[in-house]
Amino acid sequence: MSKTKKKRILVLGGGFTGMYALKELRKRFGYNSSYEIALINENNYFLFTPLLHEVATGGISVNNAIEPLRKVARKFFDKFYLGKVESVDLEKQVVKTSTSSITYDYLVLALGSTSFFYNVKGAEKYSYTLKSLDDALELKDHFLCAFEKASMTEDKAEKKKLLHFVVVGGGPTGVELASEMQELFTKTFSKYFSEDLVKLAKVCLVQNGKVLLPQFSDYFQHKSYQALVEKHKIKVILSDGVKQVGKDFVELASGKILETYTPIWTAGVAPVEVNFKQSVEKDRKGRIVVNQFSQIEGYGNVFVGGDMAAYTDPDDGVLPATAQVASRQGPSIARNMHRLENGKELAVFDFTEVGKMVSLGRWKALAQVKKMKFAGHFAWWLWRTIYLIKLISFPKKLKVVIDWTIGIFSTRDISKC
Ligand SMILES: Cc1cc2nc3c(=O)[nH]c(=O)nc-3n(C[C@H](O)[C@H](O)[C@H](O)COP(=O)(O)OP(=O)(O)OC[C@H]3O[C@@H](n4cnc5c(N)ncnc54)[C@H](O)[C@@H]3O)c2cc1C
Repeated sequence: MSKTKKKRILVLGGGFTGMYALKELRKRFGYNSSYEIALINENNYFLFTPLLHEVATGGISVNNAIEPLRKVARKFFDKFYLGKVESVDLEKQVVKTSTSSITYDYLVLALGSTSFFYNVKGAEKYSYTLKSLDDALELKDHFLCAFEKASMTEDKAEKKKLLHFVVVGGGPTGVELASEMQELFTKTFSKYFSEDLVKLAKVCLVQNGKVLLPQFSDYFQHKSYQALVEKHKIKVILSDGVKQVGKDFVELASGKILETYTPIWTAGVAPVEVNFKQSVEKDRKGRIVVNQFSQIEGYGNVFVGGDMAAYTDPDDGVLPATAQVASRQGPSIARNMHRLENGKELAVFDFTEVGKMVSLGRWKALAQVKKMKFAGHFAWWLWRTIYLIKLISFPKKLKVVIDWTIGIFSTRDISKC
């Protein structure tokens, strides 16, 4: 008796879209001998990006921001391929990775995004970024080394340059990171380095627009500015873009030079690039244009989600690159794939934002859920609770709670990793 070939559903990327798609795929397709659900990812772990700024500033330990894919998603996929996706042939239905070629019947493209530097001279070469676990670890080491070096030099100008930290970009990542950095320096490093050194340390945030958090409401813009400038004493430069980044400076469009060894670029994201063998429509940011069911037009078996997709919501325009969108688009893709396979009509991906949150250091955050706005301790508690719920496994939730609880009573971790 001949064995019928299984149909392969291949998910590229084990991030927010991929993980939530896999979960729903398993629910819809079950442990079915007719289908094989497979995942390709460049790392063997799922990265919880909203906690990256806390990893970079010693608020939580490295291992608590990641979850091994084979552990947390083992029930959702039948096969895992560790490798970097290099090309996709939509006609032949083949994905080529750094290690193998894999055919598919259905494809989910969910490789996320990388930093985008807007062709600013030197930005990519000299800036630190905060997109991956390696980025966060590199930053943490760099903060420590900058203080160590500054403590050893007698040259005042060099000391100042070492302790001048410039965050480029006033979006949520820039605002959250700048707040945590300032707390790391004033509340933790102050215990181990001299008072003079800590006083010299300055965090500066540069934003080319007129406000911080431009994609948020006036409430967030006003309160975040107040918190950064008045509470944290961070220097916020608005309405001035970055013209050039060098080894030891950031030059602004106004001509102002900020002397620093630490430019941190959080100003833009661009989708991960994949080499398609066929031409695929992209928007001006390079995201793949998809229809209302998240499919690439002309390739009904190929779905794109999360930061890679340009999905136009009839009410809200192109959806933003957030985990909130990604974690809802993933399941919507899985449901549509199941409908497609069963000859049913597809459903439009209808996204409604639940709320917005930004942390502003320990004990302080801003949150908006529907029309209700919160600031301060309650918002901070809400921020933490929601992210805890979103972490995938129970042991990880517990470990993060322990990290945070210890953090309340002690200083951050400043060991070199
Ligand atoms: C520091 C930071 C903080 C953030 N905070 C928030 C927040 O508080 N709230 C919020 O809603 N959003 C937040 N975001 C945005 C959120 O992380 C993204 O919108 C979300 O992760 C997008 O999901 P995704 O599935 O498209 O991509 P990702 O979650 O990034 O997943 C992509 C996956 O693909 C893998 N991959 C990439 N390239 C390849 C390749 N070539 N081959 C194989 N695998 C590959 C990656 O390793 C990753 O596992 C934050 C982002 C950052 C960087």
